[in-house]
This record gives sequence, structure tokens and C-alpha cells, in this order.
Amino acid sequence: MSQYFSALQSWCEEVFTVYQESIPLFREKVEEHALQEWEANITQLQEELSDQTFLQEWEAYQRANELYLQLNDYLAALHQGEDQRMTNQLEVVPIGGHTLPPLPYRYNALEPYIDQETMRLHHDKHHRSYVEGLNKAEKEMQKARATNNFELIKHWEREAAFNGAGHYLHTIFWNIMSPQGGGQPSGDLLREINQSFGSFAQFKKHFSEAANAVEGGGWAILVWSPRARRLEILQAEKHQNLSQWDVVPLLVLDVWEHAYYLRYKNERKKYIDNWWNIVNWPEVEKRFNAAKHLRWPPY
Ligand code: MN
Repeated sequence: MSQYFSALQSWCEEVFTVYQESIPLFREKVEEHALQEWEANITQLQEELSDQTFLQEWEAYQRANELYLQLNDYLAALHQGEDQRMTNQLEVVPIGGHTLPPLPYRYNALEPYIDQETMRLHHDKHHRSYVEGLNKAEKEMQKARATNNFELIKHWEREAAFNGAGHYLHTIFWNIMSPQGGGQPSGDLLREINQSFGSFAQFKKHFSEAANAVEGGGWAILVWSPRARRLEILQAEKHQNLSQWDVVPLLVLDVWEHAYYLRYKNERKKYIDNWWNIVNWPEVEKRFNAAKHLRWPPY
């Protein structure tokens, strides 16, 4: 049996365990016949995998992916109204299985700094298209591996980089903002900012200037380098250019026109100045504290 099929088999077992653990909870929220059908489908898939019925990895993958997305919907139903992050009990996003994370607040929550209409377009249209583009690229690259046809690989790699960077940056962006935001960070992050940039005021000035000077669409990004063990401020052009790939983004500011044009027109600087009022520093501190646990040899 190919490595891929045996990996898929253990993946099925893992998913089935999650399913079984959740059954008592599902009873109230998910229709009985839907559960029976899901169970029948995964059992069928497991049988076909062990009988080696599948000729194409691609086919088997699609079946597994359907099951995964279906189960994710059931899990989400259990936790309606709770923090969406709690529902992600399955730790691996399957190939082509990225989903649009919900906004952690209402569309109008960041008013007057970011208007409702911008948030709606930005999250529902722009971010969704990055998720869809990333899924498409991942599936096409998987198809290329399965069929050994790499003619379009350059195109799909570009799509994966552009849309993947777009998806991950926006996912950070929604969470590092909050209607209760603004002010300054505290604790370790503040100490590190003072050490890396001189003071919070100097950091803020540097970050704002970098954001304002991004050429075209892009980002200002505060990153932690586990190798240098220092903070740095970087720009990204589009989503993926100008990256230092060895670092962990902590604070990200979207300066594509779609992020501010409705309210600020071409006044990017005003948008940046106002944006500091909604920065969710506790989330940035959380990211920083997690990132600091990475210990890589210094070079
Ligand atoms: Mn954006």
C-alpha cells in the first residue's frame, strides 16, 4: 500500500475517535440520520482503503476531505455562540480544507476607526477569496503529485503563496484588533519592545512609518525571530513578498486599499494613526509568549 493510503487510514482512525468522543453531545444538535450516514461513509472509506480499491490517491483524498468538512460542521453546531477556536479539535487542516474563521466581534465593533462596510467586504469577500484560492492551489498541487503532471506547478505554487499568506495574515489581523483595544502592551512584550526599539513610542513611530511606506498593497508586521531572539518590524508587499521566513508574526497591519478606502480614501496615514486605538495587545502578548518558547540555534 502507498504511504499516502496508509497515512489516510490512520487519519480516518483519528477522525473517528474525535467523532466517537463527541457522539453524546451530537445527539442534541445533529440529526440522527446525518450521523448514521457520516458513520457509514467513513466505515466504507476505511474498508475501501484496506481493500486497496482506490486506483487514484486523488479520489480517496476527496472522499476523506468531504467527511472532514462534514464533521467540522457538526462540531461547529455543538459550539454555536462559543469561541470558534475551541471547536478545532482536529489538529490538522486537510489539503484543500482551510475555512474562513469568523470575525471575533461584530462587523460594526471597530467603528469609528474601521467602518462596518469595510469590515464586511474585507472579511466576507477578500479573506474568503484567499481561503478559496489556497484550497484550490493545494488541491491542484495534490492532483499534480497524483498524476505526475507538474506542467502548471509554478502557477499553483504562486497561488498557494499569495493566497496562503493572505489567509494566515488576515486570520491574525482580525484577532489582533478589538473594540476594547488601544493603549500599550505590558509585561514581557513591553520589555522586549523597549529593548528592541528603544521605547514604545519609537516602536509605534517605526511601525507606522513602515506601514505608510508600503509600496502598493501590503502589510506592516511585527515579528519575533526565534533565531536572533529579537523583535523586528518588516513590510510585506502583496502578502508574501519581502518576508523573512524564519520569524513569527505578532502584530500585523493591513494597508491594502480595501482595508481603509471606503472611509479614509487615499489617506492611509490617518487610517494607521486611528488603527492604534483598536490594537488588541493581550492577543499580541499571547502570540509573543507562545513564540518565545521556540528555541533555535542562534546564527
Ligand atoms: Mn486585506
